[in-house]
Amino acid sequence: MFIGHFGAGFAAKSAAPEVSLGTLFLAAQFLDLLWPTLLLLGVERVRVDPAATGINPLVFEHYPFSHSLAAVAGWALLAGLGYLLIRRDRRGAIVFALLVISHWLLDMIVHRPDLPLYPGSAMRVGMNAWSSLPLTLAIEGSLFALGIFLYARVTSPADAIGKWGLAGLVMFLLVIYLGSLSGSPPPGAAAIAWVGQLQWLLVLWGYWIDRHRRVAMPETGTRPQSQPR
Ligand SMILES: [Zn+2]
Repeated sequence: MFIGHFGAGFAAKSAAPEVSLGTLFLAAQFLDLLWPTLLLLGVERVRVDPAATGINPLVFEHYPFSHSLAAVAGWALLAGLGYLLIRRDRRGAIVFALLVISHWLLDMIVHRPDLPLYPGSAMRVGMNAWSSLPLTLAIEGSLFALGIFLYARVTSPADAIGKWGLAGLVMFLLVIYLGSLSGSPPPGAAAIAWVGQLQWLLVLWGYWIDRHRRVAMPETGTRPQSQPR
């Protein structure tokens, strides 16, 4: 799962308009931002096998700290509390924590049964949508489209960067996603980890765009939903 996670980040803007898109990307991709570092440290392991699934050539041999349900719940709690402490925004903190958990749930739809419930757990889950290219494209594509639709509805460009920066990001994500589906498998675990670190640039891109877009005020709608704070 790649653009589907970014779809979740985009979509969350409608639940917490005060939170920057960069922060929402950080939350939605928290586990996959942590994972490359754990790979580089040798704490977690991945192997390249072009026959692993119909689509994703990776065998996730060992990733209990970034991708077991219990660890993810812990990360969500820690990240949510951290956000609350820094920003004093309870709704934003809840959205942040839920996005961290959404990553695992979305991964569960596409991964083979390789997601552990807790570190050391023999039981692993995954619904293996990656066995089918049309199904994967339908799931990720609709999540991504829905996310962009919601983000574009809640925000409007404040200037040209807000408009073209968003269009550029959407195109860029689609190009690297489709490239990853059709390209040759990565040469090895180290390459995967280093490319994974580049995702931090997407988080920065999210912050940049968000600063050039303004939140459309819900007060003008039929159902005012903002509370005095
Ligand atoms: Zn993941």
